[in-house]
Amino acid sequence: MILAAVVVAIVAVAAVIARMRVSAIAASALNRLRGKRSGHGHETSTCQCGQKYRVSGLGRHRIYWPEGAPESEPLMIPVCANCERPLPTS
Ligand SMILES: [Zn+2]
Repeated sequence: MILAAVVVAIVAVAAVIARMRVSAIAASALNRLRGKRSGHGHETSTCQCGQKYRVSGLGRHRIYWPEGAPESEPLMIPVCANCERPLPTS
């Protein structure tokens, strides 16, 4: 029967979509868990002028990257690249 084949195909596609949704949910749950682990992962910080930064490390070892900057190009000094306000170091 052609109809049976179509039904089987639809069920197979639905199963694939369901699996994709589950993995997307699992991935976002994992990301949320990783985000809660502060200290080692990347945090974000926003300057008073609105410039966003990615932050890694703590205290004097804090490293700032302007939003979108590659990992190899952090700020050399903790001063906002946009308005030159000092960025928090604690
Ligand atoms: Zn700023």
